[in-house]
Amino acid sequence: MAAVDISPAAALHRRAQLPTASALVYEGREISAAQLSRTAAEFAAGLAEHGLRRGDRIAYLGFNSVTVFETLIAAAHLGAIFVPVNFRLAADEVHHILTDSGAHTVVVEAGHRELVESIMGDIPARRHILVDTDPQCPAAAARAAVWSPLSELLGPDRPARERAALYDDDLAVLMYTSGTTGRPKGVMLTHGNLWWNAVNVDSVVDTRADDVNLAVAPLFHIGGLNALTLRTLLRGGTVVLRRGFDPAQCLDDLVHHRVTGLFAVPAMYAALARVPGFAEADLSALRSAIVAGAPVPPQLIKDYGECGILLQQAWGLTETAPFATYLPAGLTREKAGSAGAPMPYTEICLADPVTGARIRETDVRGEICVRGPNVASGYWDNPDATRAAFDDAGWFHTGDIAYRDKDGLYYIVDRLKDMIISGGENVYPAEVERVLVEYPGVLEAAVIGVPDPKWGETVLAVLTCEPGTAPTLEDVRGFAGRHLARYKLPTTVLIAEQLPRNASGKLAKVELRRWVEQQAASA
Ligand code: AMP
Repeated sequence: MAAVDISPAAALHRRAQLPTASALVYEGREISAAQLSRTAAEFAAGLAEHGLRRGDRIAYLGFNSVTVFETLIAAAHLGAIFVPVNFRLAADEVHHILTDSGAHTVVVEAGHRELVESIMGDIPARRHILVDTDPQCPAAAARAAVWSPLSELLGPDRPARERAALYDDDLAVLMYTSGTTGRPKGVMLTHGNLWWNAVNVDSVVDTRADDVNLAVAPLFHIGGLNALTLRTLLRGGTVVLRRGFDPAQCLDDLVHHRVTGLFAVPAMYAALARVPGFAEADLSALRSAIVAGAPVPPQLIKDYGECGILLQQAWGLTETAPFATYLPAGLTREKAGSAGAPMPYTEICLADPVTGARIRETDVRGEICVRGPNVASGYWDNPDATRAAFDDAGWFHTGDIAYRDKDGLYYIVDRLKDMIISGGENVYPAEVERVLVEYPGVLEAAVIGVPDPKWGETVLAVLTCEPGTAPTLEDVRGFAGRHLARYKLPTTVLIAEQLPRNASGKLAKVELRRWVEQQAASA
């Protein structure tokens, strides 16, 4: 079979030949596919002049904006690899991502300029592009003489660059996720991975040529970028893009733009339902309300059902680009709580977490594993982490625990991996513990997730300290906040005499959790 060029730059160019509706609506501006394609091509020519070549990495740090797409499409135009960076991260964390990915160029929104300047001398990138929406910034940047204003890279004056042809195995995106051990690692997503998610979505979700999708989830996360957004942008339909999630504005957008598709995490849907006027709002256009990214409370699905909205649960990870299972709207009532059936072009199996043996029976829990063309090829420059998660038969071991019912539907019930999900953002206890033990006088630190009605889970830290040291919550947050994103900071700190450990000295988290519950009960 002849290979097919699936570059997003080529797909957008093809779309731009058609008289379709606006591709993007952003901050009241309507942007056609032709305009976006043209700007991205100009940007590609500017980046090439700055030395960006096929295979180089180009990072973006900022909120959701048109520039995210311009950067992604311009990168694809040159065959470069796009590295979106979570704008909530602290300088240390951004430093790690920019260094690990070896980014050649970073594109930075004005609000993050100082953060990048604080690490600039110590990262490989020598090209720093400032999104100069703030009129103050080009001048400041020029003074600093280290920034190139984005506007200077745009314009039709440079010779156009030929578009790179891209195929299934070409790397498209490095998306950083944390791990149980060590520092965040870059998930290597190919153009094929992104594309096959769109094929899966189009096979089961009610997508149409005139879809209007509201993009409020962060585009640095695979759910925000590729659940619905990229497919709509590249294949037809309109993306209403917001810089972030504001529940009242989200409700207003759903009504005003007659939005047909929304992807959001459970905490967002819960906040949306609390907006005054939600129950009376006309959301009759909303056909595909997809929820994933964290455990979905069945009550949330019930509450939406009572308002006539069938929340469709999906499950997946960054490594699966993102969807591996999906529950169609028709089954939402009958099977509330299920994450659905495997996507049509994705295989799922359950494995015994101890022996690795395949579980074929129904209603038996096991680690859920995924194989298929949407599954990442491994972690960037990290063969050990890749070997630990991707086996020789092509299965990706997700660290989530699930069972399958007699109808073949999956239920995500637990996590094998030590991970907290707070408001849809993943927090690995190991990365928080590593910082907390640096606090003067702290001997040991153990971090667990505790249930929270608003965020799903929040971070609780238990510390043991030298005599005379007893840091307060404010002390700990102030210290850790210099190294970690805010959403990773403990919301509760408890001081213990000692931490429970098993015979081999490993922290016994089940016992620790019991101790924490006792403390709460006796408080
Ligand atoms: P990320 O790589 O940031 O997308 O995080 C993926 C993780 O989010 C998964 O491994 C799950 O633990 C969690 N997750 C995603 N979707 C669901 C879901 N429907 N139910 C429960 N957990 C989910």
